[in-house]
This record gives sequence, structure tokens and C-alpha cells, in this order.
Amino acid sequence: MKDLVKRFPVKGGILRRTIDEVHAVSGVTFDLAPGETLGVVGESGCGKSTTGRCILRLIEPTAGEVWFEGRDVTAMDRKALGALRRDMQIIFQDPFASLNPRMTVGAIIGEALVIHQLARGREIEDRVAELLETVGLNADHMRRFPHEFSGGQRQRIGIARALAVSPKLVVCDEPVSALDVSIQAQVVNLLEDLQEKFGLTYLFIAHDLSVVEHISDRVAVMYLGRIVELASSRELYTTPLHPYTEALLSAVPIPDPTLKRTRIRLQGDVPSPLNPPSGCHFHTRCPIAKQDLCSVEVPELREARPGHWVSCHLRG
Ligand code: SF4
Repeated sequence: MKDLVKRFPVKGGILRRTIDEVHAVSGVTFDLAPGETLGVVGESGCGKSTTGRCILRLIEPTAGEVWFEGRDVTAMDRKALGALRRDMQIIFQDPFASLNPRMTVGAIIGEALVIHQLARGREIEDRVAELLETVGLNADHMRRFPHEFSGGQRQRIGIARALAVSPKLVVCDEPVSALDVSIQAQVVNLLEDLQEKFGLTYLFIAHDLSVVEHISDRVAVMYLGRIVELASSRELYTTPLHPYTEALLSAVPIPDPTLKRTRIRLQGDVPSPLNPPSGCHFHTRCPIAKQDLCSVEVPELREARPGHWVSCHLRG
């Protein structure tokens, strides 16, 4: 992904003219290696889900490039894009809203097999049964409807649906945020097992650093449409450079009662993406900001250490 930009128009007046723009994603660049998991973390409205959806072109990017196996996804026509959907799938946050309540689980999972002509007749049923068992459900479940399942089971159905077409890349858009904490670990473990089994590549989106720590090889931290830090998971958690990452990390509980972390409380809310602050978007909340510099100049995303990128005038 190179310099990805997404702006949403805000319409107003009787003629419904564009009167403003939401700056959802402002120049995001990263790459993703086969078999890798890149975690993308940030508060609500930072553009992480929009970024994930732009990769699949579920949302059309305003500018920038998305390349997948040497092909420019942003330049593809409808037909090429349809074929590409076999290689790229998405798992949604809300497992209930993303499953059609009028369709049986078998029909939901089998739909993609029919669309992509990957199986017919009895083969579809056999494949659906296999997929259900792969995600820890029973083959009998294919005759039931989504409302008959718990949240965790519904997310497993969502995962089975994504796997049906044997994708290479799966965008996991906050796949555990709507689940109980006790179930979250089960779903994350399942995703890890499936990655190993099928050699999947994940873009794993979450608003909580503790969720992505376990599963990610690298983590990108986003703030108001920009990546502010990108590093290997180990380095980001042990030696973060960006003040925003430090604040997010300070809120992650340590599973050892003898250790204490000083919580960094950021002042104020995330500013509106309708009118993001000038210079470094974080300067209105940054505890170490030098206003004359930070509110004027946009910090570049620089490689401060090998493989560790940060966007800050004072760090790195
Ligand atoms: Fe804080 Fe300035 Fe660094 Fe932005 S550039 S994170 S405001 S110190």
C-alpha cells in the first residue's frame, strides 16, 4: 500500500453539495509479506478499518496505490476485482450483523463457493462440513441459522466463510472486539492455528494493543489517518518511540501483580477528522510537544532503527 488517501465527502444544503471532507486516511504506506501478520492499532476513527477496506476496495480509495502480487488493485476493473476476491477476504467485527439472518449457515458459507464456481451439488455440502469442523464447529450446524449461535460461534462461522475460497490475505477487521474477553483468546488462537495450517497472511485490525501483541509479527499504530509508528511486535512493546504508542501501552494491563506501569492519561478526545490539527496531528494531546515546531511541520515517517519507523520530530 502506497500513499493511500481516503476522504469522505460531507454533504449539506438543499442541493446536497459537498461542503466538507472527512480525512479518514492521509497517506498510509506499508507492505505485508506472505505469511506475515501486521497488526494495525488505534482509537476509533483513526482510519484503521477504512485502510483495511480500501485494500479490498470495499471502499474506493481517493488516492494512492494498493499492490497485490504484482497487480495494482486500485486499477482493476470489476471482473478482475471479482476474481481477486478469492485471494483476499475479510472477517468483520460484528459477527451477527455480518451474517444474513435469513440464510442457513450452510448457505452463508457455501455462497462464495457457488459465486466463484469452486464446487457444485454435493461437493458444496462436503466442503462446508469440512470448513465448519476446521473452525471448531460441527457439520450439523450447517442447517441452523445465525441467531442459534453464541457470539464466539458466529465469529467462527464468519471465519469459515472467509476461508471457503482458500484466500491468501485475510483482513481481520476487529474480529474479537465484540466478543467476551474469555472468548477473544479462543478466536485469536483459532486464527493463529489457521494461519499456520493454510499459510495465511493477516492484516489484523484492533483498537487494543493487548489483542494484537500475541498474534502480530509487526504492529502499525495509527492516529487520525496516519501511521505514527511501525515496528516489530517485540520492539514496539519493549521500546516504543512515539508518545502516542507509549500512552496506548501504558493502558495495557501487565499479567503480573508485582509489576506496575505508570498510566499516561492523554488530555482531551481525538480531534475531529473533519478538521485535523495542523502539523503533527497528535500535537494537541502530546505531553512532550514543542508547539512552535509540532503544530507547524508534519513529521515524516522515518526509519529510526532498522525496521522501526516513527513519525515524530523529537523521537528517533
Ligand atoms: Fe509529540 Fe511533536 Fe512528536 Fe508529534 S511530533 S508526537 S507533537 S513531539
